[in-house]
Amino acid sequence: MLPKEAYDAGHYVGVVAHSTANNGDSADGERNYESTTWQNAFVHFFVDDQKIEQVANTDYICYGAGHTANHLGYVQVELCQTTDAAKFTKAYAMYTWLLAKLLFNRKLSVVDGVTLMSHAQVSAKWKESDHTDPIEYLASHGKTWANLVADVSANYKEMEGTDLKLQTLILYSGDADLQVAADLAQHFCCPIVQVAFATSDLLLSATTKYQVGGASAPAGVTLLSGADRYATMHAVLTLLGK
Ligand SMILES: [Zn+2]
Repeated sequence: MLPKEAYDAGHYVGVVAHSTANNGDSADGERNYESTTWQNAFVHFFVDDQKIEQVANTDYICYGAGHTANHLGYVQVELCQTTDAAKFTKAYAMYTWLLAKLLFNRKLSVVDGVTLMSHAQVSAKWKESDHTDPIEYLASHGKTWANLVADVSANYKEMEGTDLKLQTLILYSGDADLQVAADLAQHFCCPIVQVAFATSDLLLSATTKYQVGGASAPAGVTLLSGADRYATMHAVLTLLGK
């Protein structure tokens, strides 16, 4: 059983990116090896070209990068090494996605050398080990640490985008349309806002937009409107197939 020690901060504050220094290894192989050596070293995840393998609970510290980083609270991820370029590309994509996801789950942002650290940066900062991974390994496949930071940032941004993206947004023209619009919003479980107050940011944040009532709607918004409020109601019912 792995030890369950809490982080100093009570939760993790960043991630450490490692590589295994072992060409041709796999997540399974590394997990099996680690299960015999955890007293000295263990991490939370291994990533190879096939999968992301979680081997320890991220609520508790691991022994991957020296006492200070381990205890401050860094979730640690090992990239399994390969000399095969295609396998590297697949593993690297999952690795940068996972690093971003771990940061995103705690809304830590991607801050090079602070929330996102290489083992090399940890060694340079706290001088508790001389490991410099994964720099040399990344370089062997033509990647720099700056490339990795940019790739993790791009993944993180995408996660923020989907997080904030509304499925549907209902606009309404005036008070007379409010009740029907509110019923429609309830149907879609989505927000409702009077068109006069709909900012362009809000409009951009939703995938599908309907406006109930009014003579015209902003670009990209489907107008559900008739000559009077019964005709408007009819347009809404038609949308719902009733
Ligand atoms: Zn390392």
